[in-house]
Amino acid sequence: MAIKFLVVDDSLTMRRIVTNALKSIGYDTVIEAGDGKEAFTKLQAEGADFLISDWNMPEMNGLELVKLVRSAGAHMEMPILMVTTRGNKADVLEAMQARVNNYIIKPFTPQALKEKIDQILKVVPVEKA
Ligand SMILES: [Mg+2]
Repeated sequence: MAIKFLVVDDSLTMRRIVTNALKSIGYDTVIEAGDGKEAFTKLQAEGADFLISDWNMPEMNGLELVKLVRSAGAHMEMPILMVTTRGNKADVLEAMQARVNNYIIKPFTPQALKEKIDQILKVVPVEKA
């Protein structure tokens, strides 16, 4: 069964880039959200297996989203990849402390995205119902 990705970014262009990169590496099942709040609502309503989130967004940012997802509920252990321009050490550390599974700095190639996803799936197998 296909892994269902939830791609979260306030930039439509960036969502397209991530979604197209996912499709190019064989992942066709993707839903999108424009901020953390919308993402959390969609996660509750539609579910997803793997979260790929931007950090800087209005309403609810990516770090807040990660903390919310990790705090409780059916998706608290889901794989999370943070996609961001924030590459300094303190930011990476903060994201890791919020328990993202991995971190990728924009811009990136589809191959780099694939490597990050593969690394995560090695340690956090997606459990399909
Ligand atoms: Mg952003």
